[in-house]
Amino acid sequence: MRTEEQKRKHAECMNKYYHNGYKDSPVLRAYRQREDVKEKKRIDSRRYYEEHKEQCKATSRRISKNLTKEQRAKKAIYNKEYKKTDKYIESQIKYRKTEGGKETAKRSCHNYSKSEKGRLSSATRHNRRRAAKKMVENNFTLEMWKQTLEEYNYLCAYCGSKENIQQDHVVPVSKGGGNTKDNVVPACPSCNASKHNKTLILWMAERV
Ligand SMILES: [Zn+2]
Repeated sequence: MRTEEQKRKHAECMNKYYHNGYKDSPVLRAYRQREDVKEKKRIDSRRYYEEHKEQCKATSRRISKNLTKEQRAKKAIYNKEYKKTDKYIESQIKYRKTEGGKETAKRSCHNYSKSEKGRLSSATRHNRRRAAKKMVENNFTLEMWKQTLEEYNYLCAYCGSKENIQQDHVVPVSKGGGNTKDNVVPACPSCNASKHNKTLILWMAERV
């Protein structure tokens, strides 16, 4: 049996040996690349993580908090690239099937549909489908919708309200109007509903 002192000395010696070249030696590299060794390491780190979850999380929080600007930029690039790998995609597919994954998907879907971006793109998609059904000219993109909104200052083209702006077709799609940049204007729900399938002239005439 080794005494505590001997153990400490041995550890110190091994540490020195490791840092004095052994860590870069081909022998060690070959050992680490063995599949069984890799698998053992994976199991060990997973077990360590499960047993020290809070501690691990705190450490990674502390590290990411103290990153420099360059390190942050590097990390962002790495993450972006990592998300394109099969490994990540497969893990996501697996995660989506778990209860937690289903919850997350539901929540992020809900949040996206409530967000500005989500609302804009869902309206655009809806109108594209509708126009496709009616076989009218159909090339209105999300980019164009954003431009139109800028041009109208995010206000209803008919009454100037800024409430829950929607896409309105000046010439209704049902009357052959295109889903195109020059036929779509922002409208509040009230104007949009009262105009509905009427042409602008007819609607205006009814309003006076
Ligand atoms: Zn309005």
